[in-house]
Order: sequence, then C-alpha cells, then structure tokens
Amino acid sequence: MKPLFRWVLDSVLPPSCLVCDKTVEAQGQLCLKCFTTANFVTAPLCACCGVPLPFAEDGAKEHLCDACEVSPPAFTMARAALRYDDTAKKIIMPLKYGDQSEAAAGLARLMRRPGEEMLQSANLLVPVPLHAARLRQRRYNQAAVLAIALARLTGRPLGLDVLRRWRATRKLEGLSAAERRVELMDAISLRQGAEVLGKRVLLIDDVMTTGATAHQCAKALREGGAARVDVLTVARVADPRLQ
Ligand SMILES: [Zn+2]
Ligand SMILES: [Zn+2]
Repeated sequence: MKPLFRWVLDSVLPPSCLVCDKTVEAQGQLCLKCFTTANFVTAPLCACCGVPLPFAEDGAKEHLCDACEVSPPAFTMARAALRYDDTAKKIIMPLKYGDQSEAAAGLARLMRRPGEEMLQSANLLVPVPLHAARLRQRRYNQAAVLAIALARLTGRPLGLDVLRRWRATRKLEGLSAAERRVELMDAISLRQGAEVLGKRVLLIDDVMTTGATAHQCAKALREGGAARVDVLTVARVADPRLQ
C-alpha cells in the first residue's frame, strides 16, 4: 500500500507526460503519443562521438564519423538518448523553467538506456561546468541537475566540483567544430585539488552539438590523470555541420 501522503499527492496531482499534459502512470514518463514522436538515437552511430551515420553498420567493424577520423576527441565514447529536435527541446524545456528535480529524474531515466554500460563502469559523474557569470544569471547548472538525478538513480559517485569554466565563452552557435575548439581552448580546467587520477569519468550534459565542449572537458580530465572519459547527454544534434 502507498503511504498516505503519496496517495494524497497522486490524487491531487496525477503525473503528467514529460512533454504534454497527458496523464501517465508515473512521474517522468512520456505518454504513448510523445514516445512515438520522440526520435531516439539509433544505430548506425559513430563509435566515438555517437553521431548517427547515414550508412548501415557491417557489424564486424566499428565506424567513425569524418570529424572523429580527422581529429579524435579526448573522450572515448559519447552517447545520447534523443536526436535534438522539437520534441527533444520540449522534453528538455522543464529543466530550464519548470520543476527541475522532477524533470531531471525523468530525463535521467531516458539517459539510462543509452548510458547503461558507461554508467556501470563510471567511477565519477561530472557535469559540464557553466561559467560563474552564466551560473548567476541562470541560478543553476542544468548539467549538474542531471548529474545529481543520474547519481540518485544509479548510485554512482558524483563530482559536482571537478571542472571549472574560467572564461565566459561567446555563444557557440553558428561556429564550426574547429572554431568551437579554438573558442573553448583553455576555457575549462580541472579545479585545484580535484581527484580524478585513474578514474573513469562520465561527463553529463543536456545537449551535445559538435562535441567541442565535451572535448575540452575530457582533455582537462585526461591531463589530470583520468583513465577514461565518456559523455552522456539527453540529446545530440544529428548533423552538427548544419549548426
Ligand atoms: Zn505526451
Ligand atoms: Zn564521431
């Protein structure tokens, strides 16, 4: 039997879909209609950055996208639950404006499937940092809210204060992958005293575009001695070249 307070809460506020107002069985779920319109990232994918590839996988061989082939990122593997489109935007929106912790718990469950193996082997969940000025403006870091929800869901250790963003970078929209790497160079570093030596770190963020930010975070972590860095996001842009 449910505790009385939970029963009262449930009867006053029936849980609603992450995207629309439709009632669902439990908080943090998608209704059937939104589930079928959500574009989950599916194979074939780049073995490294996880970008969807246009050709079929031949099973025996792991394929890399052109960008990873030309300049391999500092992270080993990046995976996302959804393609970043209008539905994904709606799913992520409550993290910005609504009840963050409740939305984050639902998003963490969506991230668990593509991130299962990475989550199991991670020694530390680390959110992509925001610059202090941006943090004051927004009041919280969405990546940190997600990392907290994932740590709660999986019991993996959490490192909220591991990375630091030194400079407020200009908006990355419209910049190519190479330009983003230049813009972000040395913008992110390991916080003094942060202990990552020999650890398998899983970086957490809401959206991955070209992977330039994740690369800079991974670079700082690897330079600090992390054994491996993977990346898990709610959504990823399916064709970063068009951004
Ligand atoms: Zn819905
Ligand atoms: Zn790739």
